[in-house]
Amino acid sequence: MQVDRIPVLSDNYIFLLHDPTQKIAAVVDPAEAQPVLQRLQEIDVQLVAIFNTHHHSDHVGGNRQLIQRFPDACVYGGAEDKGRIPGQQVFLQEGDRVEFADRIGEVFFVPGHTRAHIAYYFAPATAEETGDLFCGDTLFAGGCGRLFEGSPTQMVSSLSKLRALPDTTCIWCAHEYTLKNLQFALTVDGGNPDLQSRYAEVKAARSRFEATVPSRLGVEKRTNPFLRWDTPTLQSAVNSQDPVQTFARLRGMKDRF
Ligand code: ZN
Ligand code: FE
Repeated sequence: MQVDRIPVLSDNYIFLLHDPTQKIAAVVDPAEAQPVLQRLQEIDVQLVAIFNTHHHSDHVGGNRQLIQRFPDACVYGGAEDKGRIPGQQVFLQEGDRVEFADRIGEVFFVPGHTRAHIAYYFAPATAEETGDLFCGDTLFAGGCGRLFEGSPTQMVSSLSKLRALPDTTCIWCAHEYTLKNLQFALTVDGGNPDLQSRYAEVKAARSRFEATVPSRLGVEKRTNPFLRWDTPTLQSAVNSQDPVQTFARLRGMKDRF
């Protein structure tokens, strides 16, 4: 399975999973249809699945047009999103499995950004491969999604599930927010040498207009303040010793950053 990144709108990424042998593809969070249709044509594959993480229009905006062109493509989304995702046919819950090509994707229920948000984790098929996590707007490189429909308690529980995956896991998040996220991270964790060097790398990459997605979970665990609610430095930065309160205060500060 290969993953292509298609940049759309101002800062969204659509991910195209494809298998050149079987000539099939699946798309994660198609904000728009046209760039996906163009890529499918270029690589000459049939769309068989749409994997949506949540109902926001910058994640499902292309659904209708894609299923018009590929009526057999199956549209997946979270069970709690029933009625909010155009064309949804499969209503997924925590622990459900989806299949694409030679890979099995495990579903995590990760409410917080929205009340129905799910993530898809494709474990590595062989020892040489890495796992791939498609986490929508839950975990970002250097940050996390805003809490539109969920509580800090829910988001900490959701992020805990993702944090438990192998450190080598590729984090395919849906927005290029990394530089701004790390600028915020430096205000609360400025003494962290891993964060300092990551910021320098990301700044250089962005000045060359390079993507910073996917990142790796191990890097996120060392540098992303929104996975570090139990780290003493972060707790003292927001004057709390409680993990959920630490997370909530960090999220509040980021909202105003
Ligand atoms: Zn969203
Ligand atoms: Fe989004």
